[in-house]
Amino acid sequence: MRPELQAFTRAWTRVITDHTVLRHSRSEVYGLLETFARHIDATLRADPFTPEPARRIGADLVVAGLATPELLGRTTTLIGRHFAAADHLPAFLGALITGHTTALIDQTVAAQEELRRAELRRDAARFGLTDLPDRAALLSRLRTALSAPQSRVGLCLLNVDRFRTINDSLGYRSGDQVLRTVAHRLGRLAAASGHFAAHLGADSFALLMAGTTGPDEVTKAADQALAAIAHTFPINNGYHLPIGASVGVVERPGAGTDPAALLGAAERALEWAKRERRGRWMVFDPDRAALEAARHALSAEMPDALTRGEFIVYYQPLVDLAGGTAAGAEALVRWRHPVHGLLAPGRFIDLAEHTGLIVPLGEAVLRQACAQAAAWRAPLFVSVNIAAAQLRRPGLPAMISAILDETALPPYRLQLEVTENVLLDPEMLGTLDDLARIGVRIALDDFGTGTCRLADISNLPVHTLKIAACFIAFLRDDPYAVTGPDRTVLTSIINLGRDLDLSVTVEGIETPDQARRLLELGCDTGQGYHWGRPQPAESITDFSAGEAGI
Ligand code: C2E
Ligand code: MG
Ligand code: MG
Repeated sequence: MRPELQAFTRAWTRVITDHTVLRHSRSEVYGLLETFARHIDATLRADPFTPEPARRIGADLVVAGLATPELLGRTTTLIGRHFAAADHLPAFLGALITGHTTALIDQTVAAQEELRRAELRRDAARFGLTDLPDRAALLSRLRTALSAPQSRVGLCLLNVDRFRTINDSLGYRSGDQVLRTVAHRLGRLAAASGHFAAHLGADSFALLMAGTTGPDEVTKAADQALAAIAHTFPINNGYHLPIGASVGVVERPGAGTDPAALLGAAERALEWAKRERRGRWMVFDPDRAALEAARHALSAEMPDALTRGEFIVYYQPLVDLAGGTAAGAEALVRWRHPVHGLLAPGRFIDLAEHTGLIVPLGEAVLRQACAQAAAWRAPLFVSVNIAAAQLRRPGLPAMISAILDETALPPYRLQLEVTENVLLDPEMLGTLDDLARIGVRIALDDFGTGTCRLADISNLPVHTLKIAACFIAFLRDDPYAVTGPDRTVLTSIINLGRDLDLSVTVEGIETPDQARRLLELGCDTGQGYHWGRPQPAESITDFSAGEAGI
């Protein structure tokens, strides 16, 4: 092996063994990764480049036990560093991540199914509960259907809604009875329409259709299955229990389709249906699955990206409308991603909120922003967005005090932007009070788009209302509109702010007319492309001179 490939394998082994407990020794891991390293090298050098081998490498990593998103993140980072000069690196990494993620999802589905089977085996009396064929029979039918040349197949996966509740509240015997009833109704439908019905275990059923002509035919069958199942079920004392199910639907040509992939696709669609359209069907959408895989990969990369300092803060001036000079700046995070380039927060903030990474990420943003504000020569304030998850963590006020001390920024020069929804939560309100006691300013961001009781605002430790951009869009067409619902809403919010003695800021100002009109209507500060887009700290050189680039 070439020395640089050996160096890569050594670095990879170190990264993997340092961060995971594997069953293998370090030298065994090295042996394993050596083979992978060769494949990676060969795939990156292949001319022309094709993504399939890269996808396979991703999937094989899962099979080899390197199956966590974290290991994937570390691996892609390392490949990115060692093969930085390779022409097809971004496409290669994209395909590797897709392969890994898809295999991981398949593995999770298989593991869940294994758990379900074990559950059923434990309760032997419940096995063979229905007369329908089982999963093995379905797979064998599926293989036959897929092998017929030029044929298409359709699959509906059904899962009884709220089955656990039925079991828990009415007892296993009633639960079994419900499953038997569902099986009976599905079996009858399948016999009448020539489809193949199976009981996959617990509360999961399938309907297989061979020789379909398109998805519509399968969704029609899903509707029929739902109608067949959706009858009430008699329970004790003359009561009737409504039963329903959610369905995942997939339909595709048999050629090139693998039974596990088809089942996996139907499982995903079923998951979506359970989450979003309970009691109805959803069709597998490959674009959505790819998007979810990409988002999954992105959230897997975030912890390392944070350690490597890839999250940077941009600043956008908050301008005093009367004087036309900057009063402060909003700190807006960006991800300088090694493969995808500069990512806006819309791509990753919700992921960070979902995984909890928003807490350390928010802290990093606060630290950078306060240090930056302390370095500006003009005494401008910096306005930092705070997520609900940060407010819910105990210790936020102490952390902010520590950062202010560390950076020597006076508290009045820090403003925290929270959404009005936090006002509904007494715990977060308590934290806001503590923060206000430190002396930092608090702004209600995107005001008017959330839910809050106006009556509450007067008692709150809030200093600023930040009016969301959507409320001023109409001013672009007609800055002097004197009537209309938009104008009424805008002036009501401004008046509310003035009456409560709050400072009023407007975001999304894009034209000079909007700026002028908002000053006349009584707003204090504004922010928007009219004065400048968010920029890296180094680009806002005028800030340090106190001119603020306007
Ligand atoms: P936001 O706090 O309401 O920030 C204002 C957004 O409007 C920014 O988008 C800004 O670039 C954009 N904007 C500014 N002027 C104009 C304009 O004239 N026209 C239009 N169309 N847009 C304008 P950005 O930077 O993409 O940030 C989006 C959102 O991400 C922010 O909305 C905020 O909710 C969130 N966010 C950004 N940084 C952080 C952070 O550090 N922590 C948390 N928790 N959220 C953040
Ligand atoms: Mg904001
Ligand atoms: Mg906003």
